[in-house]
Amino acid sequence: MGKGVELQVSGVVQGVGFRPFVYRLARRYGYTGFVANTGAGVKIRIDQVDDSLEKFLKDIIMESPPLAQIDAIDRYGIYPADSGEFSILASSIPKKNSIIIPPDIALCSDCLRELFDPFDRRYLYPFINCTNCGPRFSIVEGLPYDRPLTSMRSFPMCPGCEAEYQDPASRRFHAQPNSCRQCGPSLSWLRSDSGRIDCLNPPAEAAVALAQGRLVAIRGVGGFHLAADGGSEEAVQKVRLAKSRKAKPLAVMFAGVESLKKYFYVNPEEERLLTSFRRPIILLRKKRDCSLAADLAPGLDEVGVMLPYAPVHYLLFACPEIPESLVMTSANLSGEPICYENRETLGRLADLVDFFLLHNREIVSPLDDSVVRIVSGKTRLIRRSRGYVPEPVNLELVFPDILACGGESKNTFCLVKKDKAFLSQHIGTLSNPGVFNRYQQNIRFLGSLFNVKPELVACDLHPDYQSSRYAGSLGLPLFRIQHHHAHAAAVMAEHHLTEESLAVIMDGAGLGPDNTIWGGEILLVNYAGYQRLAGLQTLPMPGGDLVARELYRMGFAAWWKSKTRDENINYPVPIQRIPEKNRDIFTQMITKGVNTPLTSSCGRLFDAVVSLLDLRQESDYEGQSGMELETLAYRALGGSPLTPGELSGSNLLPVSFDNTAVPAEIYITPMFRELLALQERGYGANTLALEFHIWLISSLSNMIGLIIKNTGHKPIILGGGCFQNTILLQGLEASLKARGFPVYSAKNLPANDGCIALGQAVIAGTLQQSSA
Ligand code: ZN
Ligand code: ZN
Ligand code: FE
Repeated sequence: MGKGVELQVSGVVQGVGFRPFVYRLARRYGYTGFVANTGAGVKIRIDQVDDSLEKFLKDIIMESPPLAQIDAIDRYGIYPADSGEFSILASSIPKKNSIIIPPDIALCSDCLRELFDPFDRRYLYPFINCTNCGPRFSIVEGLPYDRPLTSMRSFPMCPGCEAEYQDPASRRFHAQPNSCRQCGPSLSWLRSDSGRIDCLNPPAEAAVALAQGRLVAIRGVGGFHLAADGGSEEAVQKVRLAKSRKAKPLAVMFAGVESLKKYFYVNPEEERLLTSFRRPIILLRKKRDCSLAADLAPGLDEVGVMLPYAPVHYLLFACPEIPESLVMTSANLSGEPICYENRETLGRLADLVDFFLLHNREIVSPLDDSVVRIVSGKTRLIRRSRGYVPEPVNLELVFPDILACGGESKNTFCLVKKDKAFLSQHIGTLSNPGVFNRYQQNIRFLGSLFNVKPELVACDLHPDYQSSRYAGSLGLPLFRIQHHHAHAAAVMAEHHLTEESLAVIMDGAGLGPDNTIWGGEILLVNYAGYQRLAGLQTLPMPGGDLVARELYRMGFAAWWKSKTRDENINYPVPIQRIPEKNRDIFTQMITKGVNTPLTSSCGRLFDAVVSLLDLRQESDYEGQSGMELETLAYRALGGSPLTPGELSGSNLLPVSFDNTAVPAEIYITPMFRELLALQERGYGANTLALEFHIWLISSLSNMIGLIIKNTGHKPIILGGGCFQNTILLQGLEASLKARGFPVYSAKNLPANDGCIALGQAVIAGTLQQSSA
């Protein structure tokens, strides 16, 4: 008799078809024993092993199901036994454990084949799924991940589905959302003014309505989409009106890669991600002759594109009437949280859409579509939600339970359990009461799901953020973390960096401890603290927070600060246009410091440039200036990234700084003077936008070069919302790498405020441990 062996597999191995996979593999090897879920992962017991074990272990790793992620396989010798066969034991997981729930998974190719197979019993069934695909996190009510603790509990399985669910050889063995037309959820079709319409094929009705230019609210995996014909200017206008969203880009869905290639450039990396099980929205560059509605993304050359991921999407695109592309944008009013419940949504959207395509499988956790960009072949998350959440970030240290409340806009929060950080899905901007409610609801829900009982709380230094107020109300030890320290720590945590680093944080706005608004800083950081070594020269913000919407205020401030005395009469065009009375008021505000804080924010710098180049004077959404300037610069580049040669070469705008000041200062006023002079000499907006990017990159890179002479070599962190700008990110990365510095930037977490909760959490945890 040989030896027995027990294997403990840890990682994402539950709810992903891992046990049936092990079952089939073990039977192939002729093993007896069992496989079972445990509180820590999966346990495999093999009664007697021979030389084949090594090969078996290799096969586990090589052939494991697509969604499984194996972190480790630990091996223990045990007494041999003889169970007679290999079997799968039922879940014996203790309630409330730290098991990881997989994210929601797009329809797999096997299920897709069955969906359109007339001889399959799930032919055209809109809720087909299997062990390898289907909803996961969005339907989970509690742990262990088992049908009674999902919203599928209200659909008892029919004998056919039950047999599949119990059969280890079936593709649907323990597929928790398993169902069929007889026993599972169903679709319904409603007119917004007259209610339910009986019909045999709701997707076919929806396709016809969409082809006629109607707006349809479609309930999907994480919530409702507002759908309309993406090729029709009129339909797109209707969507904008319904959402009261003037210019913010709208995403479109295509049937497949082939049809979207007619309109967009797609590289292999983008194609891989578009078709991956995560199915995010990916920002793709339009082809010159792209005939989609121009208003999908006004002023931009990139559009958010995605492929079908729920069966109902495939059913829609299989209808002959369906438009080639569909606008598919989260159904909500501008600023409000995504709609996800039937009753509430019917109330909120009845006056705005023509039809509803509903289903009755309850969504427990609402999730927007995730948004991703591929930069230099690497994924860059912009909005992290469906398909990614709730995958944890593994931390280098074990912490007590922590709640980090995040920022104000693009909020996410973070829960820490031991060495895992769970960053929530994108929540939104908390100043909206509906979003703030959803935020509190999600904190309670995820806290109970992951059994996190916070011993400490972290929030932003800004006392007036809703998240900071909420944190203060909890009565727990509270750590207020500077916004850009948190940005840096988030990138460090993502890359598992533990040594002191230099962080270049180019961001919108965050309160500094000196009560000015930071946002263009070079910090020396570790998790326990930071030192501000350099920053962008400050500009006054006449009107405070108003400047982010009314860009001409920043334009005026930049011009006022840069002008020489005799230029008082010689106003640039955008300044001329400001009524004289207002110019006087702004001047008074700036000189007297009335409601005019100072800011080093890089986002406000982009705003000032956009205003002075007279590209736009009002902003419709956060980040618009940066995105539009990047678009113009990209046009000037003709599509190729900046080379290190171009970056170190001559540059129309003067790079200058005060290196003796503490902190050191990157001057912006000489740049503005030259920018206005070049504009007057007839330089076009594309060239000037590009020159501004090159100026910013050179300034930062040269400053880092000087700083490193004092600090010695350090890892360099790039963080903050401005690094969503591809030209800035690629250019600065290339320039710093050419100088021989190691550079780290956000990849699987957003560079924007969607990441700061993670930074807050690791900083608070570190501070608490060092004070203990
Ligand atoms: Zn499947
Ligand atoms: Zn059934
Ligand atoms: Fe920020």
